[in-house]
Amino acid sequence: MRNMYTNEQHEWQKEFLNNTHIGILITDLNRKHRFANTYLCRMFGYTQRELFNQSTEILHIDHQNYLKFTQIAFDVVMKGKPVGIDYQYKQKDGSLFWVRISGNLIHGKNEILWTMVDITQHVEAQKEIVNLKERMELAIEGNRDVVWDWNLITNDLYVTPRWKDIVGYDSKEVPYKIKMWKKYLHPEDRKNVLRDINDNIHGKTEYLDNIHRIYHQDGHWVWIHLRGKTLYDENGTAIRMTGTHRDITQERELQLKNKEQAQIIEQIHDSVISTDLEGNILSWNKGSEILLEYNAKEAIGKHITMIYREEDYSFLQKNIEQLLEYGEQHVEVSLVKKSKDIVIADLSLSLLKDEKGAPIGMIGYSQDITERKKAEKALLEQKNIFHYQANHDALTQLPNRLSFTETLERSLKKAQRKQDKVALLFIDIDHFKKINDSLGHAVGDKVLQEVTKRFNKIIRGSDTLARLGGDEFTVIMENISEGQTASLLAQRLVKSLNVPIVIQKNEFYLSCSIGISLYPDDGNSVENLLKYSDTAMYKAKAEGRDNFQFYCEEMTEIAYQRVIMESNLRTALKNEDFVVYYQPQINAHTNQLIGMEALVRWQHKTMGIISPQQFIPLAESMGLIVELDRYVMKEAMKQVVKWYKEGLNPGILALNLSIKQLQSKDFISTLKNILRETGFKAQWLEFEISESHIMTDPKESIKILNQISEMGIELAIDDFGTGYSSLAYLKKFPIDKLKIDRSFISDLPHDDEDSAITKAVIALAKSLNLKIVAEGVETEEQKDFMLENSCKTIQGYYYSKPLPASHFESFVKSNKTA
Ligand code: C2E
Ligand code: CA
Ligand code: CA
Repeated sequence: MRNMYTNEQHEWQKEFLNNTHIGILITDLNRKHRFANTYLCRMFGYTQRELFNQSTEILHIDHQNYLKFTQIAFDVVMKGKPVGIDYQYKQKDGSLFWVRISGNLIHGKNEILWTMVDITQHVEAQKEIVNLKERMELAIEGNRDVVWDWNLITNDLYVTPRWKDIVGYDSKEVPYKIKMWKKYLHPEDRKNVLRDINDNIHGKTEYLDNIHRIYHQDGHWVWIHLRGKTLYDENGTAIRMTGTHRDITQERELQLKNKEQAQIIEQIHDSVISTDLEGNILSWNKGSEILLEYNAKEAIGKHITMIYREEDYSFLQKNIEQLLEYGEQHVEVSLVKKSKDIVIADLSLSLLKDEKGAPIGMIGYSQDITERKKAEKALLEQKNIFHYQANHDALTQLPNRLSFTETLERSLKKAQRKQDKVALLFIDIDHFKKINDSLGHAVGDKVLQEVTKRFNKIIRGSDTLARLGGDEFTVIMENISEGQTASLLAQRLVKSLNVPIVIQKNEFYLSCSIGISLYPDDGNSVENLLKYSDTAMYKAKAEGRDNFQFYCEEMTEIAYQRVIMESNLRTALKNEDFVVYYQPQINAHTNQLIGMEALVRWQHKTMGIISPQQFIPLAESMGLIVELDRYVMKEAMKQVVKWYKEGLNPGILALNLSIKQLQSKDFISTLKNILRETGFKAQWLEFEISESHIMTDPKESIKILNQISEMGIELAIDDFGTGYSSLAYLKKFPIDKLKIDRSFISDLPHDDEDSAITKAVIALAKSLNLKIVAEGVETEEQKDFMLENSCKTIQGYYYSKPLPASHFESFVKSNKTA
């Protein structure tokens, strides 16, 4: 190849041309090679010789390509300015490569100097991006994303056609320069977008991610989600940025709407909680935090049972089941706060459904109704207070007349059902008017309060003390079995005022008068009972006040006897104011005296002889019966021993024994002592124990009865037929005798039932090998009936009433003589 610059002084230029990394080629106007430097030869794979004087067409991939080059060369020659073009060439071995070519006319020589740079690597990279771009475009076809590609060097911006759909511009108007794109940005967002882009270019962020608004041709703003990534060359220079645009206006609006909704829910003062179908909490608003003290963070993800008491779990479960069945549920619930306090809430449950209507969760809307409940309770309390006030006396807090009437009505109904009695006590304070008139109402009020206090202490829990007005009080005594129970209370009420009342250092001597009426004895209605108790109260006033009276005079009599006896019985026992009477027992067959029953009488200084029927029960309840029986036992034995000593034959002595006597521990030893003291023989003695007594504790009775029997003392069961004997026990008891109760005898022989019972008892005694006694025989007919039925031992008025010792002595004597 000919060297253009052969002279020596241009040696360095030659050196440069051959060693530079730029290909240099000189062509003439016929496009024939005049020069190619070493680098160019290496680029194309030819030697300098092979290229020299050759048409440059051999470097081109085809004729078409060569013609394009010709055009370029022409432009260089004609326009005289250098051109940089990326151009594909062919190497000697046929492989293609990219060259950036610039041509320059060498003045005065009609030759063109071409510089060629191998840009294959760049072009390949670019191609790859273009391919990628194509692939992406394919991939996103039908996709809503717009792909953009921004050449950071040239500032060219490429966007896929869908960009037009987003912003409404024609494809021609699609920005192809970043500068143009910028003007579509919402002024408020511009700063943020540019900052984010800049940050990504400078590697501060891995990805570009920004939401902003872009101006739509129609004049509205479109929300864009911008994503992107910067690409760098091998030197780390940012060369391009690619990414996507997505129109998120709809989502954004929905999101805003949701946010708005969420904000509204947040603003609701009441609790709104959503859960999935399992009850796991999904959302928890501010109202829930206010109501239940847990914040959203503490509650979301937990199970809804966290706000329920364990005992309410089944209730909760039931509510959920109902909700699933009916789609909604409205209930009152007790919820547990974080502080474990309970809040009462009004809960509306509804179902959360997907677009297809399938349930996916639950929403609970709870309102705190604790205050409402409190108000309701307060109202109820108020009502109760009113009710109380309407039914109570303000001064004493006792039930008033209204309440009294209602209570008594209820009591009467109850008594009717239960077949028991009600006593109504009408109490009036004696001379109360005097206190009021002389000392004023204030003192009178205090007196009434003190009286109330004293009465309240005395009445039983089941009694109702009421104030009818003024100084009038009543007491309703429910479920009493006998009217006399009321007399005991009346007596105590009267007595309670006998202790003076002290008010402001003044002593008041009070008393009251009480009238008592009984249901059903005196009347059946509230009005009548009240009327009769009032009448009885006036009787008590007439009797000198400070006392009580029954409406029925007989009851008063009994009551007073009891009252007197109770207070006198103890002293009577001490003073031995008792006498023993003896009633003969006769063999009706032979009219011979067999023995006698000792029957005690109380010889009262003023009341005269009192029947044991009146004081024996009292002595039993006062715990005096054991002592009394021992007194009778001693007296009778002394007397009978005396008679024997005198040569009389009074027969067997029958003594009545209370069960309490048998139950006392020292009974046997006491008995033996008395026997020894009096010199009484066991074979002269018989004990009578009432059937009803002995059957209360038969097992215990057997032991002591055996001891008595072993001593050779006979045992009789008294009042036989009135209790409920068990045959099994009758067989086991060491008894000798049955005493048929007087009540069966009195109507004999005309009463069929009584005669049948009497005959049955006799038959029973026979079968058990027991002796039998008929008690209370008053007539000959009765005596004959007994004899006919082979009961020959008779006790009764037919032969003799119970007699004092002296009279009995005469009886014995006359019987002996008879
Ligand atoms: P009781 O053991 O059933 O005594 C018989 C009662 O019937 C006696 O009553 C007697 O007077 C009465 N009587 C006897 N024959 C006739 C008759 O033909 N017609 C009528 N109408 N009555 C007749 P009294 O003496 O009033 O004694 C009553 C009850 O008091 C006795 O019933 C007895 O259970 C008890 N009692 C009497 N004295 C004593 C005693 O010293 N100790 C104990 N524990 N109880 C006694
Ligand atoms: Ca008896
Ligand atoms: Ca009897």
